[in-house]
Amino acid sequence: MIASKKGEASFSPEALREKYRLEREKRLRADGNAQYRDLSGLYADFDKDPYVEPGFTRPALTEQIDVLVVGGGFGGMLAAVRLRQAGVHSFRIIEKGGDFGGTWYWNRYPGAACDVESYIYMPLLEETGYIPTEKYAKAPEIFAHCQRIGRQFDLYKAALFQTQVEQMDWDENTRRWNVTSSRGDKLAARFVVIAGGIMHKAKLPGIPGIETFKGHSFHTSRWDYGYTGGGPTSPMTRLADKRVGIIGTGATAVQAIPHLGASAKQVYVFQRTPSGVGVRANQPTDEAWAKSLKPGWQEERIRNFTALVSGLQADVDLVRDGWTYLFDASETRRAKSPEEAAEIHQMANYRKMEEVRARVASIVKDPVTAESLKPYYDPLCKRPCFHDEYLNTFNRPNVQLVDTDGKGVERITPTGVVVNGKEYEVDCLVYASGFEVTGDYTRKLGFDIRGRGGKSLRDAWANGPSTFHGMTSRGYPNLLMISLIQSSWAINFVHILSEQARHAAYLIEQSLKRGVEALEPTEQAQEQWWATIMASLQQGGHAFGGAECTPGYINNEGAKPDLSLIRSAGFAGGTLGFIDILRKWRDGGELSGLELTRGGNNP
Ligand code: NDP
Repeated sequence: MIASKKGEASFSPEALREKYRLEREKRLRADGNAQYRDLSGLYADFDKDPYVEPGFTRPALTEQIDVLVVGGGFGGMLAAVRLRQAGVHSFRIIEKGGDFGGTWYWNRYPGAACDVESYIYMPLLEETGYIPTEKYAKAPEIFAHCQRIGRQFDLYKAALFQTQVEQMDWDENTRRWNVTSSRGDKLAARFVVIAGGIMHKAKLPGIPGIETFKGHSFHTSRWDYGYTGGGPTSPMTRLADKRVGIIGTGATAVQAIPHLGASAKQVYVFQRTPSGVGVRANQPTDEAWAKSLKPGWQEERIRNFTALVSGLQADVDLVRDGWTYLFDASETRRAKSPEEAAEIHQMANYRKMEEVRARVASIVKDPVTAESLKPYYDPLCKRPCFHDEYLNTFNRPNVQLVDTDGKGVERITPTGVVVNGKEYEVDCLVYASGFEVTGDYTRKLGFDIRGRGGKSLRDAWANGPSTFHGMTSRGYPNLLMISLIQSSWAINFVHILSEQARHAAYLIEQSLKRGVEALEPTEQAQEQWWATIMASLQQGGHAFGGAECTPGYINNEGAKPDLSLIRSAGFAGGTLGFIDILRKWRDGGELSGLELTRGGNNP
């Protein structure tokens, strides 16, 4: 038995290892990612945008532009901002939603808030002069910040909202991408930046009978306030006489459930795997602190956080929250070998999850419910959550946890939800079932890209992607991708997005300045980049979160990655390591590794 740090409890690492293994096995299923349904066909109604007036029309455009940015979330907006700052003004932004914001346009569910500190998560704070009102800002404030960026950098006039790309073809004669859209637009763009988001495709659980449900239902990223009444920060008054079921207990559900509990007559929470929920301790922004900030503060704070959550050392922890506590790697530094470091790290993980479980027991009064809410896996197997009202909500008489013990909901009927043979009748069913994260990049895009010689990116990448820095790919000139593919990942995801956006804008700016009409990586540059990724993996990084984990999007639902997924692996030498590679490459100023075709020699 090992005493926990606070000396409150002790645990047996062997017993926990075995418990974690059993919990994982319970949840492994042969259908992996295939268990989910996307929002098309039978389920297309789930994908309707509830935030726009129906019936929007506009004339189709035929335009020649320097750049087309696909996606109006943070990635696309940041690329567009950097383009403006570089003096590139001939661009369009195509966005499926009715406004900027991406995630923050779609996710308006009650209680939505950023779970990474707003001072580092919300971009361009110094440039816009805005200071968030809270340490963890709520969704409406973040959405308003997206609109602020749109106004300040004059992005609205470039935006084509409620529009989706349908097809992209590279034209070798004009050295442009010919892009058609769902609104009949025909755009001939020298460059295309794809900033499609990693969680833009909502998914439904493939539970038998979904389509037979006769009550009201929606996905959390299309919250229907018309039905529930209220708004993201006001009580959902129309639920007062309603029985509501919510399927899923991930990061979204953790934020939404306290609000459902406060508004609905009865709430059933259908749980397959509990989230680990740590202390949030949100607080209003200290005005004196805000006034004391010196120029450059945001970049410094962002880098400090990313360093700490990458296990690096820093003199100070500027953010000091649940994330930096969870990733604190100081104990492992006393290890004398990598094996010892791994052992110390695992012990720390057990201890931290013991603390999370102890928190459940101390808040949730009913012991059976409390036991069901305890997560048995390592901290990063699922997105760690932080919330100060979630657990308490299960003490309300109108909220019932329906634990499926890892099996998931059995069936949906016209009137309710069946678990262990028992039907729970509901008027409204909310799917907090998440988004497609792993899976085929080209399929998730929703449109095909035909590059040189008409070759579809889908076919070219059938056995996995080939890229340079994860941003360009041979055979697809002037196509710049902001994605997870062969690039990097960060807890503060906007950090990596903003660096990729900067890189894309640099490539475009330099090409336009140097009279380059087409750029693409050499075969050799792609091979070298892949070798760099492989070397980073061999040096102790890992491509896929926990093979030992309970299934989830972090480990490809527990399924062995196929060749295509393996080739999507990112640089494992840390977020800052990846950012430094991009920066040094730009500082070199030679555009090395790229094949450049200059103007004037059109065939
Ligand atoms: P998740 O994919 O994390 O959660 C989906 C939930 O649905 C899981 O609890 C899953 O269970 C459950 N589920 C799936 N199928 C079934 C079934 N058949 N029966 C019962 N339950 C089922 O999606 P979220 O929307 O919660 O979060 C997605 C990501 O979005 C987060 O990981 C995070 O990165 C981001 N996010 C960020 C926030 C922020 O504040 N910045 C807030 C919210 C989300 P199981 O775990 O067993 O698979």
